[in-house]
Amino acid sequence: MSKQLYELGDMPPLGEVPEKMHAWLIRQDRFGKPTEAFQKEVVNTPAIADDEVLVLVMAAGINYNNVWAALGIPVNVIAARNKSGEPEDFHIGGSDASGIVYKVGKDVTNVKVGDEVVMHCGQWNRNCSWVQGGGDPMYSPSFRIWGYETNWGSFAQFTKVQGHQCMPKPKHMTWEESAAYTLVAATAWRMLHGWGASSIKKGDVALIWGGAGGLGSMAIQIAKAVGATSVAVVSGQDKFDYCMKLGAKGCINRNEFDHWGMLPHWKDNAGYAKWLKGVRSFGAKIWEVLGERRAPNIVFEHPGETTIPTSIFVCETGGMVVVCAGTTGYNATVDLRYLWMRQKRLQGSHFANAEQSNQMNQLALRGQIDPCMSRAFTYEELPIAHQLMHDNKHPHGNMAVLIGSTQFGLGASGKPPVAIVHPTLPKGDVHTTPAPYPMSVPLPGIAEGEALTISDDGTRVRDLMHRGIISCTPDDTVGMVAKIMVDKEIHAVVVMDSEGLAVGVVSQTDMVLARQGRTPDEARAMRAREVMTPGCATCDADMLLSDAVSLLTARRMHRLVVTENDQPVGVISMTDVVRKIIGE
Ligand code: NAP
Repeated sequence: MSKQLYELGDMPPLGEVPEKMHAWLIRQDRFGKPTEAFQKEVVNTPAIADDEVLVLVMAAGINYNNVWAALGIPVNVIAARNKSGEPEDFHIGGSDASGIVYKVGKDVTNVKVGDEVVMHCGQWNRNCSWVQGGGDPMYSPSFRIWGYETNWGSFAQFTKVQGHQCMPKPKHMTWEESAAYTLVAATAWRMLHGWGASSIKKGDVALIWGGAGGLGSMAIQIAKAVGATSVAVVSGQDKFDYCMKLGAKGCINRNEFDHWGMLPHWKDNAGYAKWLKGVRSFGAKIWEVLGERRAPNIVFEHPGETTIPTSIFVCETGGMVVVCAGTTGYNATVDLRYLWMRQKRLQGSHFANAEQSNQMNQLALRGQIDPCMSRAFTYEELPIAHQLMHDNKHPHGNMAVLIGSTQFGLGASGKPPVAIVHPTLPKGDVHTTPAPYPMSVPLPGIAEGEALTISDDGTRVRDLMHRGIISCTPDDTVGMVAKIMVDKEIHAVVVMDSEGLAVGVVSQTDMVLARQGRTPDEARAMRAREVMTPGCATCDADMLLSDAVSLLTARRMHRLVVTENDQPVGVISMTDVVRKIIGE
């Protein structure tokens, strides 16, 4: 007669599944800091479907996803699942694991009871028509990240996974080491190998952002395995040795450069030239590291907003910038001239399918992937590991936590087929990296979701606008326009043609951009038509103020010309809106 519940570390006989199990649970009424949100509970061991497998978890990997799950933002994962029909009012997280197969569904053919496995975190519905038609499951609308978007992750005695998620565990790794690499390594594999002719090849050069980070450390090793040369970008010299031991040819300290962030305006001659100087010196540094004048064929991107302009610029003609995150922001700016004239590719990438995860795992089995595990925690410390991540105080490298394994260092049998040198992780436990956004948030689609409610106080543009239009002609000089601005204490002048039609606006921004890279005399002599922003962004006086604000911010403008019966009658500006906020 089998026991109803086994204590942790007390392994049930192989293949015997107890009715109940220990687990770390998140519940909605304790969403918040990880040390409070995660609580130990005993729950029913989940039943499995025909394509599923029940795995006794020996160790689990820690990822940022479950910090978000604990906080309950930006997505309440429990409510989202309840809405789609799942009854459980709790979340068991964990998207990386190693363990032993205890039960298999009747349709599972790749593993059997007793197999030692690691698991990738991609799940999808095998009945999805796209998947059944042979499409990449990563594009299936049913794709979910196991242990974040799905329940029954690895922070429990047993986890429920789909058969294809199970891959052989590298024998030379301990339980905790083998639980630490799959999510980051499979993501890096798809980024580098998943894009047809643009994928990494022997002899290529790869530029790897965050070379000492979770993804970057895997990317360096994957590039090395294919015979490519990688250059790692890091924030300090203390990380050079680590990246080079992993296989990078050399490193660049990004703190020696200051051209980061969104691109300067393309009309800003001086600002653009300064940016160009910065990005060229960064490119020259790549040449210096390589010892030859070569541009990276592939740029491994995830910082996003601050680095994309540089990535696009330095990428080789015909090369690819592949991006899986926007850790520093989502509004990446691209100088399209480099994209089309030099025919580069900006490619989005997200996790990996089963085939790619297994290809990556072959490297791990051969000993060509060091899991870069920095610290392993006991079962009791699971919330602390997440709290450290939440507070940005976690060590560099990948972290794991023991679940069924009773001690650190167990589970390894045999040596790796190739000898690996474990690089020493960089010291220091405070990260400069901002907290990443979750790797998977529901993005709105055409038909998804409920009707959105937009609250608005009903203010109309006419309630705040300034009546009267101050204008100039297209042939007036910039000097004349500047005088109008100063005399009338306004920030923009509408350009009217001889028929009284508004054909453009000269704003203060247009004026200062005209001055960039020119002498004051040259700037003064320019004509309004040369510097104006053509077309006239208008709104009707009856438009809702909130709609006008959306127009302004989306177009990065500060004012709109207000019309009544299609005739310009006034101006509404950002300043007017700010005045309303302070109640003036
Ligand atoms: P990580 O271990 O924290 O490493 C990120 C690295 O980025 C840091 O080591 C840092 O290195 C570098 N970095 C930080 N700020 C930077 C900046 N302003 N400019 C350039 N580099 C900067 O994180 P990770 O595990 O590698 O993950 C990176 C991102 O990918 C996260 O946003 C994560 O959520 C996302 N991700 C996405 C997927 C997916 O499937 N879509 C999968 C895994 C991870 P230095 O300070 O040394 O430069």
